[in-house]
Amino acid sequence: METFDQLLEKSTKIHGHICAGQVIGVRMSMIGLREIGIDDPKVQRKDFYVLVEIDRCATDAIQTVTGCSLGKRSLKWLDYGIMAATFVNLKTGKAVRITALEESRETSKKYCPEIGDKYKQQLEAYRIMPENELFKVQPVKVAVPEEDMPGRPKRRVQCERCGDWVQDCREIMQDGKPLCKPCALGRYYEII
Ligand SMILES: [Zn+2]
Ligand SMILES: [Zn+2]
Repeated sequence: METFDQLLEKSTKIHGHICAGQVIGVRMSMIGLREIGIDDPKVQRKDFYVLVEIDRCATDAIQTVTGCSLGKRSLKWLDYGIMAATFVNLKTGKAVRITALEESRETSKKYCPEIGDKYKQQLEAYRIMPENELFKVQPVKVAVPEEDMPGRPKRRVQCERCGDWVQDCREIMQDGKPLCKPCALGRYYEII
């Protein structure tokens, strides 16, 4: 496992800028991996997966540190708008949900007061603050659906209404007919 500084440098490069989210995301990932017993995410890349609850800066850092991605199906994005992520060891079932504490914005003020710039001070503070002032770590149990795992799709069915093909058991049965989610629940786009 690389050091915090190496990982932060890497995530900053991939994300495009250094920000509090990179520091938080790198620290969160290192704690998450440690807690579920993953020593080297590269070697053990198939042994765990991560669920993120927000699509903001820190999510990029989580992706960099863990190597998990949407395309590999090792990263799940739940659109909750909560600065939290859950790390799951698929072999042992061990899982932790880590939430970035809102209070840390306040708590961070007592660190590095010599740095005048508020943004830089916060960034430095987040690097050195003790874990329990930055995060809440909850041991959790996660039911991992078989159809969420990498590998061949378990099923491919055609939507009875629009004709789109639906993979991975995401169809919804209505009156005995398979429908895609947009047809069954409403779509985010309008065809013009
Ligand atoms: Zn950022
Ligand atoms: Zn459809």
